[in-house]
Amino acid sequence: MTLRIHPCAGLAAGVVALSISMTAVAVQAMEPQAALEAALARQPATEPAKNIILFIGDGMGVSTVTATRILAGQRAGVDGASYDLAFDTMPYGGLVRTYSVDGLVTDSANGASAITTGYRTINGGIGVDGAARRGVCDTARNVPTLAQRAKRELGKAVGVVSTAALTDATPAAFYAHAPTRSWQSDVDMPPAARQAGCVDIAAQLVLADDDLRPDIALGGGASFFRTEAEGGRRKDGQDLAALWSARPNAAVVTDRDGMNAALTAGRDMLGLFAEVNMPHEVDRPTATPQIPTLEEMTRAAIARLATEPQGYVLLVEAAHIDKAHHAGLLNASLTEGIELSKAVAAARELTDPADTLIIVTADHSHGLTINGGERGDDVLGLIKGPTGAPRLAGDGKPLPILLYATGPGGPEAGEGRPALEGVDVTAIDHVRQAGVLIGSAAHTGEDVPAYADGPGAYLVTGSMDQPYLFQVMRHALRLPAEAP
Ligand SMILES: [Zn+2]
Repeated sequence: MTLRIHPCAGLAAGVVALSISMTAVAVQAMEPQAALEAALARQPATEPAKNIILFIGDGMGVSTVTATRILAGQRAGVDGASYDLAFDTMPYGGLVRTYSVDGLVTDSANGASAITTGYRTINGGIGVDGAARRGVCDTARNVPTLAQRAKRELGKAVGVVSTAALTDATPAAFYAHAPTRSWQSDVDMPPAARQAGCVDIAAQLVLADDDLRPDIALGGGASFFRTEAEGGRRKDGQDLAALWSARPNAAVVTDRDGMNAALTAGRDMLGLFAEVNMPHEVDRPTATPQIPTLEEMTRAAIARLATEPQGYVLLVEAAHIDKAHHAGLLNASLTEGIELSKAVAAARELTDPADTLIIVTADHSHGLTINGGERGDDVLGLIKGPTGAPRLAGDGKPLPILLYATGPGGPEAGEGRPALEGVDVTAIDHVRQAGVLIGSAAHTGEDVPAYADGPGAYLVTGSMDQPYLFQVMRHALRLPAEAP
């Protein structure tokens, strides 16, 4: 076990003689003093930001952060509870309210749109105001995104990175406008919407005006960009990938080597690394050796965008925190949280907090609970009693440290929950128990965290409304309140 010992700890000789776990507690209890000293020395950075990197951990509520932190520490061979994820050490932060125009609980479309446009909308709405009716063309006003405004008004470059399809709700909210997130390609739209002039999300990414289109987009979703003849979904005959690469100085890449080879200054890049969503990180070793990680995509995007004289705005989404939570795949979800931490660490390493604002937040939460456990226990395991055997709950069955409120691991009608005898609850494919059975775990409506560093980061504080994060970023770039 590696312990971080603060120089001011002034350890008494007797403390060192205590057991490892007691030493850990005694030493770490001194760390708040160093944190205070850092806070007292901190000056708010009020100058404009040249660059902004917005990280969205999809579905990464507070309990998911805590569980991810513990698992990350345990996998690193140290105490989990006192471990720091890459964003735990950011100097500013607060809590964010996440409701939508029509719901106490938001989906990713409204949650991300609130952050990227400053407007709440209906659940399912992408870059449209609150007048939208789901799936009905032209019921709402399209509201410009931070990325669109930064590019058009300030000449900044734009990047989008996601482990989901690039047309999925969260990345789409950086560059597209639609009254429903499901319009990912032309065949996903009703004919009436197409006839009314609405355009699918993939087409909006590729066919946008030059002063709006992202310069680099890395993720999944190839099928939404390619025609049926090319193995994709599109029936309108538009091979969007071919249209992207037909422009001068633009490339389409499909694997890690292609991505790195195409990393040339000023070259636009569309990376399509999966037909729909990229694989979960826990499936990587055998399934997808040539697929870049979230960290690798983040590094590539920053390397490309850092060559821009006017700076850039970049969205990075860790999508599978949410998608694995929905499936009850807890190990997979928390592993994606660790991947997000690696990507944030890379961004902090590659950028200068003097000119780059980094915000890490979530679009909404998930109903994960942390119910007990000793400090050294595997956080993916069961709560143990004094003998080391699982502690039994009121129903006479072992209780996992981490449980879902809802999900596919809930009990069938008329049945109690399984006893978990002989079950490896830490396994990648184990579906975690839930209190109530729902085929896909529900998002939850409590506040989510936000962390920030860099110019304007001091404005990320207290109890915030989700659209407020847009205002912080807009102010950091010194964009006027309204687009011209
Ligand atoms: Zn979700």
